[in-house]
Amino acid sequence: NAKASGRGRFTTFGVHMDVIIRERAEIERDLHAALTKTGQFHVLYQPKYRARTGDLISVEALVRWYHPTRGCLSPTFFIPIAEEAGLIKALGRYVLEEACKAAAKWQIGSVAVNVSPIQWRNPGFASEVEATLEATGLDPHRLELEITETAWMDGTSTCIANIRALRDLGVAIALDDFGTGFSTFGRLHDTEVDHIKIDKSFIDGLGKSRGDEAIVQAIVDMAHAKGLKTTAEGVQTQEQSAFLTEIGCDELQGFLFSEPVSVRDIDKLLADGGQRARPQS
Ligand code: C2E
Ligand code: MG
Ligand code: MG
Ligand code: MG
Repeated sequence: NAKASGRGRFTTFGVHMDVIIRERAEIERDLHAALTKTGQFHVLYQPKYRARTGDLISVEALVRWYHPTRGCLSPTFFIPIAEEAGLIKALGRYVLEEACKAAAKWQIGSVAVNVSPIQWRNPGFASEVEATLEATGLDPHRLELEITETAWMDGTSTCIANIRALRDLGVAIALDDFGTGFSTFGRLHDTEVDHIKIDKSFIDGLGKSRGDEAIVQAIVDMAHAKGLKTTAEGVQTQEQSAFLTEIGCDELQGFLFSEPVSVRDIDKLLADGGQRARPQS
């Protein structure tokens, strides 16, 4: 009887709760399977251009999951599930290996890889990266690893030790989604990072919000004062691009220039000289 009323309470959430739980278990099971087979995960690369010259200088690796029945799934959907299911280390290793293999074949430029807070907290992470660099022959100076501002702020000692070990190897560290985490202008002089990626939410405001323009300008100035490079993510308009170039932001990334594309497309861009279309004046 108690059981029956328990069930009754459960169904007051509606059938939906049930469906969500079942779907979630299915996704987890499929993630497991996808990690042992090959061919379902693909790494795409989004170009980053030097603002002043328009040179292609780096790409960011972004993973996609081509699910056999659900189609192409976004990392914002499956990365959190992989993290909770204990699968992010395996997935992260796959992305890192693919990205290093691809970049080792390119004559120029660096590759940036997103790293989950769970990977940063793994004591073996730095030596795993070192082994991957050796196996693929990629120069450590051509690898950049991204940590979100939030993960960096509550960085554990293990996370910090990983960052130090990697920077000693020559790997660059970028603070991702900067500006969303109420940090850290103060902590930045510890210089445990090389690079700041200004979050898209601020870039969206350029040309619309004086406040966002002031914030972006302040981030760029502060970063430069500390010797850090800046990248704007999510650049979508010519106006944003011009503003960012004007205030001295170093690198631009966004749909205005390119969406994330296949490794073959990057090969072609590089063969064509690695220049973005010149901004119209
Ligand atoms: P992120 O690292 O901040 O990556 C930037 C995201 O913004 C990418 O979404 C990119 O496609 C998107 N983007 C770039 N330019 C524009 C633009 O102009 N307009 C709009 N609307 N979007 C733009 P994506 O590929 O869906 O990735 C989402 C997030 O998933 C990433 O955000 C990152 O946090 C995470 N992620 C992706 N790949 C990996 C991975 O291999 N490992 C881990 N741990 N996380 C990953
Ligand atoms: Mg990123
Ligand atoms: Mg980002
Ligand atoms: Mg982001």
